[in-house]
Amino acid sequence: MSNPGTPGRQPGSQRTADPTPALTEPAQAYAELAAGNRRFVRGAPRHPNQDAGHRAAVADGQHPFAVIVGCSDSRLAAEIIFDRGLGDLFVVRTAGHTTGPEVLGSVEYAVTVLGTPLVVVLGHDSCGAVQAARESAATGTPPQGHLRAVVDAVLPSLRRAEEEGVDDIDGIVDIHIAQTVEALLGQSPVLAAEVARGRCAVVGVSYRLSAGVVRPVAAVPATTLDVPIDAGTPAAPAA
Ligand SMILES: [Zn+2]
Repeated sequence: MSNPGTPGRQPGSQRTADPTPALTEPAQAYAELAAGNRRFVRGAPRHPNQDAGHRAAVADGQHPFAVIVGCSDSRLAAEIIFDRGLGDLFVVRTAGHTTGPEVLGSVEYAVTVLGTPLVVVLGHDSCGAVQAARESAATGTPPQGHLRAVVDAVLPSLRRAEEEGVDDIDGIVDIHIAQTVEALLGQSPVLAAEVARGRCAVVGVSYRLSAGVVRPVAAVPATTLDVPIDAGTPAAPAA
């Protein structure tokens, strides 16, 4: 974790400490995630909350500041792309970020029991689940086995894209991300009530595989995206 040539951990060092350990506001939680993604994109991650001291500190309880409902794609590892560590993110991932009962129950657990203030739907460009659904719809041939459940869950987004005249795969992905945000709120009255109280927000973001950038696609409430993002000062270039 240490960079070559950097001194070891000093007494009182804040190098790996979480600067904002008690995030309870949805917009602040989103800003923290966005800041971590900016550090990741520019190749200057801080790797917060990944040291042995923090591991011991969170062993007795967790207070994650965001739930990630993400696609299972192997290139979409949440703690890496948001530059976070142990105890920060409550992660639920399925192919195509589809939302069955177990996903909804997991989200409700984090929001109501752990008090997590933010739910993020994390999709990405070139999503294989969306492509599989598109091929299935085009050929009229459903996939075999349980993959059909994934494809069936994506089909409403394909129909909506068709209604809106969206034909490119990444445009369809954006619609599927927004549709997943709506599905979470529509299928979970528990989550919808927490959002209505202002205690929680749901944001949909799209991740670009090559650049590593996360871009907001939808937010309920929309004001969740308004907080300034402070990714910290870029590291000085090596002498
Ligand atoms: Zn995917």
